[in-house]
Amino acid sequence: MKVRIDGGTVVGWSGAHHELVPEGSVLIEGDSVSYVGAERKAADKIIDAAGKLVCPGFINLHVHSQLNVGDYLITDSGKRDYLSANYLVFGAPVKKKAAPPPPESVAIGRKYALFSALKNGATTILDPGGGPGDLDQYVEIVGEIGARLFFSPPYRSSDIFTDAEGRHYYEARPDGGRQGLQKAVEFIRRYNGAKNGRMQGILNPAQAETCEPALLKESAAAAKELGVPIHIHAAGNLRELVEILYRHRKPAIEYLAESGILRPGTVLGHTVFVAGHSRMDFPFGDELKLIAGAGASVGHCPHKYAKMAMAAESFDRYVEAGVNMGLGTDTYPLDIISEMRYASLISRLVDRKYYGARPERVFNAATVWGAGALGRDDLGRLAPGAKADVVIVDLRTTRYGPARDPVTALVEYGSGADVDTVLVNGEIVIEKGRSTRIDEGELYARAENAAKRAWDNWPKRDWAGRSVEEIIPPAFPTRR
Ligand SMILES: [Zn+2]
Repeated sequence: MKVRIDGGTVVGWSGAHHELVPEGSVLIEGDSVSYVGAERKAADKIIDAAGKLVCPGFINLHVHSQLNVGDYLITDSGKRDYLSANYLVFGAPVKKKAAPPPPESVAIGRKYALFSALKNGATTILDPGGGPGDLDQYVEIVGEIGARLFFSPPYRSSDIFTDAEGRHYYEARPDGGRQGLQKAVEFIRRYNGAKNGRMQGILNPAQAETCEPALLKESAAAAKELGVPIHIHAAGNLRELVEILYRHRKPAIEYLAESGILRPGTVLGHTVFVAGHSRMDFPFGDELKLIAGAGASVGHCPHKYAKMAMAAESFDRYVEAGVNMGLGTDTYPLDIISEMRYASLISRLVDRKYYGARPERVFNAATVWGAGALGRDDLGRLAPGAKADVVIVDLRTTRYGPARDPVTALVEYGSGADVDTVLVNGEIVIEKGRSTRIDEGELYARAENAAKRAWDNWPKRDWAGRSVEEIIPPAFPTRR
């Protein structure tokens, strides 16, 4: 089966950088791109992309496969709780009250999150882990929605809980996290390459401060043996910073460097609190140099931090230090197109430099650099031999107006809502903005039910028995 995408402005790949092909054509044979250019080669099916921008599939390096009813309650972020403000410390459950969610809710959370990221333009998704649940079912969901996933169940040496007074504490696991690592390795052995290669393994040692040095060393060795990348949350909150400093007398990135985990194929989630950040008063240390020198990458999630009045300082500074930067959404909406704009605007704001974080940089971060973070040179670009992961965006709307440079227009004005067509592995998975595979109405209704159940049950889980309304007051009161 040969599919040809015709008539749009194609973001092709020169071999060294993206380049525009006006009224271009992309020929897809099987799961790969075989031609990008001006000619119209013979094909069995033609997709009309006139007036549209034909982009390589975007790479979202941070999508937890869950509804986020706990930490952020989907879209809310105005939580008035100092301790669980996410830049200070991760939210943590009360141990006695942390009953595992019903399998039905886990499945809906996974499907909703992964589909939401796909529909907003991410053909490749890095999932650092959602709620615990059935792993065979996870792979079936990936098969069903049609995205390309990097995942295995996360693991850690110690858990974080909240006590009866609302204080956080760490509790070491008796096995130091070995069973979790073993489970992840088994998952990868079993499923790496499943669903026509769309299911890919990645090791997820969860957070820098919850993984002891031995577990990190074993993770690095296992990743090397399996030939898979690693994701770890690192330098993402102040509690983590202090905890690692207290236990190991060094900042998180130095701690990871010494564990051997900092290397090509390792993605550091967030990495905000490093030397040079305005909230850090270290007169020395150069974590960016360490990351760049090791060839590791950062999965930068600017929107999530902006919600907490916080920012990495800055996207441009990291790029100029030689760090390979990818983008992730983490928080809802899982919209990788808007995330490019957040990355750009927040970097400019932080640097007080309006000609900063230019569109080409953030577009690279969401495409080729993100692919490089995962060790893949066949993703994030449209070139012969690359996987046929394509996102077609409709630019003929009043949102853009007449666009002189469509990539700049996309970065400055675009949103995931403008995504018209998505192909993964040469298959059309979103057409005219709708899934070709699942019933979106049913998915939304089931997600709404699962979220409502979780919100209604919140007082039973909260350390102080508070309702969702008490923790996160609504914008306006409801008329009684
Ligand atoms: Zn995360």
